[in-house]
Amino acid sequence: MKCPFCGFEESKVIDSRPTDEGERIRRRRECLSCGRRFTTYEIIESLPIIVIKKDKSREVFDRDKLFNGMMRACEKRPVSVDVIEKAIDEGFDIRGYYLWSLFDNFEWSAGYHYKFGIATTDFATGETKWKRSAYFYRDFIQKARETAK
Ligand SMILES: [Zn+2]
Repeated sequence: MKCPFCGFEESKVIDSRPTDEGERIRRRRECLSCGRRFTTYEIIESLPIIVIKKDKSREVFDRDKLFNGMMRACEKRPVSVDVIEKAIDEGFDIRGYYLWSLFDNFEWSAGYHYKFGIATTDFATGETKWKRSAYFYRDFIQKARETAK
């Protein structure tokens, strides 16, 4: 594992512990060249998730790409890097159309001032209404399903 500071390839493990559900092992390492410390995570390799893009091309799911996309989407919004990391790590299911639930998470973490979702709630009556974007999205999904057949 290359040191992120100097690029040296050898480091020693100074601490090792399982994370949350024991699905990952967190290792604190110290570079044998520059002595700086960094953290790595060890996970079990699983089958790659394939992302099918709008133009029907396929590519292997790339966590960094997702992270960067989410960072861009949240640029002018009060969503911290930690929240984005957490959303990815806790594994919202990206194998499908989950736009609303993903963005709902941001709404919860951002308080009530920013609205992200495809539905809106009238807080006086508690009534939920679909926004125009919801209907756009419904049509988009329908079209995608039909062309996938
Ligand atoms: Zn180093």
